Amino acid sequence: MSNCIFCKIISGEIPSATVYEDNDFKAIMDISPAVKGHVIILPKKHSADLFELEDDSAAKALIVARKIAKAIKEEINCDGINLLQNNGEVAGQTVFHFHIHLIPRYKQDKVEITWGHETYVDGEAVSLATAIAARI
Ligand code: AMP
Ligand code: ZN
Repeated sequence: MSNCIFCKIISGEIPSATVYEDNDFKAIMDISPAVKGHVIILPKKHSADLFELEDDSAAKALIVARKIAKAIKEEINCDGINLLQNNGEVAGQTVFHFHIHLIPRYKQDKVEITWGHETYVDGEAVSLATAIAARI
């Protein structure tokens, strides 16, 4: 994708601080980290989001994420790590090339990942589960 910033990072046209690279992925330091050590994992093949991602990339992505998460944790000794992956503007996606965030967490950090809670009426969860299941 000629106008995709992550494709330009992958090709080297735009510089990045690279953490990991193989035939299928490049992982870089996020330029505007939630916490120092925040890494984003980019599949080299352009997909806008999870919906466009191929199964093979999806399967490999978590293996890469786990490798890098272990290295981050060892290096910076954080207390935990969030994997975050946004799809769609409403979900916070700003770059439309699939990526996974690895966000280091400390007990006293300023990251907030939180949501309110809805409730189901009787039978609603089961009927929604059945409807979703029928589409898999
Ligand atoms: P998202 O909001 O999930 O689409 O995440 C996009 C991420 O890409 C943000 O956390 C940005 O800080 C990061 N980002 C944007 N441009 C660059 C860049 N040139 N190098 C590294 N990270 C970038
Ligand atoms: Zn791209």
